[in-house]
Amino acid sequence: MKTPIFQNQFTDQLVADTISNNYVRLVPAAHFSYISPKIPSQPQLIHYSEEVAELLGLSADYLVSSDFVALFSGQKTGTNSKPFAMNYAGHQFGNWAGQLGDGRAINLGELNQWSVQLKGAGPTPYSRRGDGFAVLRSSIREHLCSEAMFHLGVPTTRSLALFLSGDDVVRDMLYNGNPALEKGAIVCRIAPSFIRFGNFELFASQGDLINLQKLADYTITHYFPSITSSGKQKYIDFLQQVVDRSLALVLQWQRVGFVHGVMNTDNMSVHGITIDYGPYGWLEDYHPDWTPNTTDRENRRYRFGNQPDIMLWNLYQLANSLYPLIEETEPLEIILNAFATQYEPQYVNMMRNKLGLKVSKEDDQKLIYSLLDNLQQSETDMTIFFRLLANVSKTNTAEEALENLTFAFYQLNEITGLTKSRWILWLEQYLVRLQEESTSDTLRQQQMNQINPKYVLRNYMAQLAIDEANQGNYALIEELYCVLKKPYDEQPEFEKWFAKRPDWARTKVGCSMLSCSS
Ligand code: AMP
Ligand code: MG
Repeated sequence: MKTPIFQNQFTDQLVADTISNNYVRLVPAAHFSYISPKIPSQPQLIHYSEEVAELLGLSADYLVSSDFVALFSGQKTGTNSKPFAMNYAGHQFGNWAGQLGDGRAINLGELNQWSVQLKGAGPTPYSRRGDGFAVLRSSIREHLCSEAMFHLGVPTTRSLALFLSGDDVVRDMLYNGNPALEKGAIVCRIAPSFIRFGNFELFASQGDLINLQKLADYTITHYFPSITSSGKQKYIDFLQQVVDRSLALVLQWQRVGFVHGVMNTDNMSVHGITIDYGPYGWLEDYHPDWTPNTTDRENRRYRFGNQPDIMLWNLYQLANSLYPLIEETEPLEIILNAFATQYEPQYVNMMRNKLGLKVSKEDDQKLIYSLLDNLQQSETDMTIFFRLLANVSKTNTAEEALENLTFAFYQLNEITGLTKSRWILWLEQYLVRLQEESTSDTLRQQQMNQINPKYVLRNYMAQLAIDEANQGNYALIEELYCVLKKPYDEQPEFEKWFAKRPDWARTKVGCSMLSCSS
């Protein structure tokens, strides 16, 4: 059995807070603070990902050892590990929030080049009014969703393992004056690094150009090796790459119907990976205005259809923070303006692929937007709709095609009259369009099934796993983990998860309503 030996690239090369006591404060002129996890009273392993363990070089026999539980739950410090919390700032819901930092995440260092972090590991100087802990429900959601996203092909942090801490945590789940005890949990997650837009915003806001530049140089050297330019150009190239990755990321979210829920700049990774799974959700009935986050119910800033615009808004904040290293607005504006012009054609192309169309035609955009109108007018399950669409044959009539899609509609009795005619009209256009493709039905179906998942982590599925876990039963976590490892495969043995949201979940807390409380 091999015990992991940690590396400390981040802390060796960047600047540490000079105060070592653990109390909430502003931490000037430092990238991080050394801080140890709070020792959990009775850590219990609930689930781990073998694949992620492999990435870290952890051997199979190590994973069943007590050392594994102790090290990755924060009970014991690993060899060479010098745990720390990062300092960062951010814009929350569009407003400048100042210093935030890792309030409950503690980094252990790097293994095999991966940064390893415990979420819910106790208070840090950045905990502000929080307790530093995380509850079981949100930890299950993070663990399962990170792995599900990876297998969907969406860039993301990964999750090694989920532990119960053995300590209870008080949470007012809906912020409505009903605090209750919940089980505390710890997720061990990994990423190339956990550097966020907010890390740059922090130093820019403080006018601390030395630490801003140190952070930028560190990030570029280690994570953007293709950047070979120097001087100002280096930082311009860096922005360009973050913009490209962020655009690619948000496009993937729109493809699978993922709503992040809290796209604050402190939750935006410079690697263009999904980070910080909080009140996220999956579109069930397609609706661009939908957000799972009740904290955002009024303005719906982070609604599904707004995600690309918000991503761009966030990139503006990153560009503003890099400005002191560049001192020219024009190259930054060119890059940011290009986001808007590039997003639209890439979105259309992505949707064309979802529809199984390879040839590009002028009217495709119209076809796509009229489909989106139909989807929302009829309360249609997004995932099921696109998956079933692959079964439509070129030789079908529009009526036959519609018949094939009925399982996707929440209110089948509404598919009559004008609504039905709209669907028939759209399907007629789609069938004509399919005739213009040389691809056979079989090949198109195969291609569509690689881009339109059959299984996603529907909000109610995660909630069922949470309800069972609260009773001490973790079998469903494993089952969902297995289904979601192959989201594009038919997996007939898991057919029950290819189902619309059940009625009971429509308004249930945790299924359609989530707050930032976690
Ligand atoms: P989030 O929106 O969940 O990513 O969190 C925003 C900020 O609040 C980050 O700085 C977190 O570290 C901090 N935070 C969230 N929950 C807690 C908590 N329970 N204790 C301390 N800090 C927290
Ligand atoms: Mg966060």
